[in-house]
Amino acid sequence: MATDATALDQAFLDEQQHALLEERETEWREAQALDSEANALARRRETEGSLQEGFGTGETTSVDLQRVRGAHEQVVRRLGEIDAALDRIAAGTYGRCESCGGPIGRDRLQALPTATRCIRCQTPPRGL
Ligand SMILES: [Zn+2]
Repeated sequence: MATDATALDQAFLDEQQHALLEERETEWREAQALDSEANALARRRETEGSLQEGFGTGETTSVDLQRVRGAHEQVVRRLGEIDAALDRIAAGTYGRCESCGGPIGRDRLQALPTATRCIRCQTPPRGL
């Protein structure tokens, strides 16, 4: 079989898997931190709600809580993307565009290990 320049070799897949696992650990810690922060804010809001009804403090906590929960959601979504990419590595479908079936390309995968589409199919393009 001739060497396909677009084919991903095992060394590259190992590297990507390693990068994904490292990011997964970082995101996981972030998710835990945001989760406990959200819990602390939720408790504070309850206290503030009963102590200072009609004042603005409880609202500030609510806004903080929304922000933290939003950030938590994002991290959880990111963890899902990382898990999906790890699944694709395990299944042998990693690096294949889910839209056109073509190769996503090494450079793009190195920059974005969780990419599911090639640059042509990715609309709107990321990073704009
Ligand atoms: Zn494509």
